[in-house]
Amino acid sequence: MERNTKQRQEIIETLKACYDHPTIKELYDLIKKNHKNIGQATIYRTINNLVKEDVIRRVECPDGIHYDYRKDHYHFYCLKCSKITDVFLDNKIIDNLLLSSNLNNIKHVNLVFEGICDSCKGKSSYEIK
Ligand SMILES: [Zn+2]
Ligand SMILES: [Zn+2]
Repeated sequence: MERNTKQRQEIIETLKACYDHPTIKELYDLIKKNHKNIGQATIYRTINNLVKEDVIRRVECPDGIHYDYRKDHYHFYCLKCSKITDVFLDNKIIDNLLLSSNLNNIKHVNLVFEGICDSCKGKSSYEIK
């Protein structure tokens, strides 16, 4: 474990400072800026480990996988500009959803709403596929 501590910390701190849900490539590029000698394979492996350990989370969107440090919310994905926005739902809604199902060992809820964001809605809506 010890050998990875620095990289782990670096990934966590970088992601913590991000509010725009970077992809693994974007996250790597950000870290690379300050740490020229960290290898891509190490970063990718460490990111995957952090996800497995539930330290950071994956956000699966139509355009690929993004990463988020914060876990207290869900996401909205704009089908037009690919922007990802945080969505805060009352936890009771999710609890009720799970209660009404027979699922009782849920560890993560990966909920992504897909639609058109406010700033895209205003302009030439007829172009939306
Ligand atoms: Zn948009
Ligand atoms: Zn988020």
